[in-house]
Amino acid sequence: MVPRIRTIISELPAYVPGKDHPDLVKMSSNENPFEPLPGVLERAVAAAKSMHRYPDLFATELTAAISAKFAVPTGWISVGTGSSGVLQQIMQAVVEPGDEVVHPWRSFEAYPIIPRLSSATVVAVPLGPDGGMDLAAMAGAVTKRTKVVVVCSPNNPTGTAERSEDFVAFLARVPESVLVVLDEAYVEFVHDSRVVDGMGVLASHPNLCLLRTFSKAYGLAGLRVGFALAHPPVAAALRKCAVPFGVSAVAQHAAVESLHREPEIRDRVGVVVRERQRVRQALLDQGWDIPDSEANFVWLPTGERTDEFAVTCQRAGFLVRPFSGEGCRVTISAPSHNNRFLATAGEWIGGRCHRRLHTSLRQRRNA
Ligand SMILES: *Cc1c(COP(=O)(O)O)cnc(C)c1O
Repeated sequence: MVPRIRTIISELPAYVPGKDHPDLVKMSSNENPFEPLPGVLERAVAAAKSMHRYPDLFATELTAAISAKFAVPTGWISVGTGSSGVLQQIMQAVVEPGDEVVHPWRSFEAYPIIPRLSSATVVAVPLGPDGGMDLAAMAGAVTKRTKVVVVCSPNNPTGTAERSEDFVAFLARVPESVLVVLDEAYVEFVHDSRVVDGMGVLASHPNLCLLRTFSKAYGLAGLRVGFALAHPPVAAALRKCAVPFGVSAVAQHAAVESLHREPEIRDRVGVVVRERQRVRQALLDQGWDIPDSEANFVWLPTGERTDEFAVTCQRAGFLVRPFSGEGCRVTISAPSHNNRFLATAGEWIGGRCHRRLHTSLRQRRNA
């Protein structure tokens, strides 16, 4: 006899992390290319000295710092072990077995997994032609059983972001009893002022919940800390579902210190955004047809040759995140690494053109 495991567990897709290799540049996990900010690192190290103690269960100082930054009362905040952890809290708080969770696809890997752990049925709605949400289809997918609709802006892995007016129109179509989760993991990298900022619409929509993370713009992916911003009844429910003492003292202190160093964080984000714009323009000049990214990565629609492209990148010394048969997501990194990627991408697309050109020249010569 062996212990019986829920059947859903064997049916779940595994979360595929971006590859890592000590000799290769990692452009596969949308991490921040900068090393930890000096003051943040020192504070984290100091906090590690209390590792024999449990951290502050209520993340009091961090919650206060988030409250100050966003000008919301602390009752609107629920901190968790990365926004993935907060998403688990959301499902535990809201979903009963058999309820439906609508999510976009292709999108964040965790969306089809986490709701099903709470015995929800997931309803995947394909992206629109621009690589962003098909918000009309998502609103249309809501049934009497729907408890949550997840919207990702900017979307991982396409980088496409939603416009404010479109998101507000979508909110108007979703019943107020359905929780809308707006995952804004990359919101700090948004440059286009027409793109929705959840904070601008939160107050007027009691069924809206914003997901934010310290993993990307703040560069704390390894510490696992994120948070939800929601109206007090929702936020209180989420806090009840948090893993007790899940967010370590190291993570809490590093996050607080990062919020106190907003100008330095903004400078670093600015560097990444400028690099994204440069990389995107260079790719367009090379002849790539790519969606407009507002995040810290770009999406190459390599289609059936995706695995081949990923291998080519690996041989050139860097790792990308391939989605077989669809495309590759490439994280914006340091300029020299981005240049290496651009050279490979240019050879790839140019190579095909050249081959065609050479063949036609040869054919003409032979004729
Ligand atoms: C990276 C990412 C997150 C953040 O995950 P953490 O658990 O906070 O590290 C959330 N949503 C999306 C869409 C992401 O790409």
